Amino acid sequence: MKIVSAHVGTIPIRSSMRNAYIDFSKMDSSILALVSDVIVDGKPLVGYGFNSNGRYNASHIIEDRLLPRLFAAAPAELHNDSGEFSPSLAWDVMMRNEKPGGHGERSVAVGVVDMALHDLVTKAAGVPLYRWISDHYGDGHPDDSVFVYAAGGYYAPGKTLTDLQDEMRRFLDSGYNVVKMKIGGTDLTEDLKRIDAVIEVLDGDGSRLAVDVNGKFDLSTALEYAQAIEPYHLFWYEEVGDPLDYSLNATLAEHYPHPIATGENLFSVQDARNLLRYGGMRPDRDYIQVDPALSYGLVEYLRVQEALKQHGWSSKRCIPHGGHQFSLHIAAALHLGGNESYPGEFQPTGGFTDDAVIRDSHVSPGELPGIGLEGKAEFYRHLHALHE
Ligand SMILES: [Mg+2]
Repeated sequence: MKIVSAHVGTIPIRSSMRNAYIDFSKMDSSILALVSDVIVDGKPLVGYGFNSNGRYNASHIIEDRLLPRLFAAAPAELHNDSGEFSPSLAWDVMMRNEKPGGHGERSVAVGVVDMALHDLVTKAAGVPLYRWISDHYGDGHPDDSVFVYAAGGYYAPGKTLTDLQDEMRRFLDSGYNVVKMKIGGTDLTEDLKRIDAVIEVLDGDGSRLAVDVNGKFDLSTALEYAQAIEPYHLFWYEEVGDPLDYSLNATLAEHYPHPIATGENLFSVQDARNLLRYGGMRPDRDYIQVDPALSYGLVEYLRVQEALKQHGWSSKRCIPHGGHQFSLHIAAALHLGGNESYPGEFQPTGGFTDDAVIRDSHVSPGELPGIGLEGKAEFYRHLHALHE
């Protein structure tokens, strides 16, 4: 298989909401179409990729560094011994002449291309991505469906407690059992009122509510909130301090007995391993949220899984950030604990296929070949326009 052309674009995925750290008014995403020389039903097979929300487009890195390296590579450098195009070998080619460390936007750019390559090879194989991953890297027995929770509860101008409760009721009505809200964007007193309001909607059951600080707190605020929310037995307390402040996280874990989740802003196996080594994370209760789309794609995520295994962690402790169709396939294939979901947000890239049904907080990736972005009509319109 040969890639005959690549088409990069940038689209807005903006929203009026904000968390404790940023607003999303200028959020955007790279989108990529890789057109191959494989012809099916008279049309070339095309692989699509995009970047997950939370980081901005990385289109220039894709165009200036990654794609030129792929196009300059000899066919033998991109194909394995069985003659199959290998996203893993392509990953090595893309990372030529890149120094270690400083992952940032580069990991986003590689993630976009890695996703498009996996979409392409699985379409060429005629199978959904989850099936291909399970056969190549898993146990051959993927999960039928994946646990998903509804992430929302953002701060927004004029948003009242009643609005917040109505939002959470909509999540429950659409099939979710577990919901998440933002905290840390106001003071503790106000946040506790917001938490109480949401738990009321959850029939008083705090274990169905996760709270997310988006890395805002210093240690004393982290501990002050920990003490205040401990009686609620929340589903998890997320990204409490700076994502790279492993010491803060470790101290928090000593004082907070319930689950902690973090990792959505760790973009490499090295960073994830440091979290396991130094972050005080507890394999019996805590959650790792590394988002494959932001952190060098599936090739690197498999290395993260290997590092977890070496440290005695189960893949069940992973629930990736992002709420997108790519991670959903990975979760089903590798028996992850679940996947995030942002109902109605970060469109058109976010969410699952248009016909996906959430039932009892579970959803299936579907049976379309590849990632199945053709099953997201509005998004597919943008992707298709890249190369038509
Ligand atoms: Mg988060």
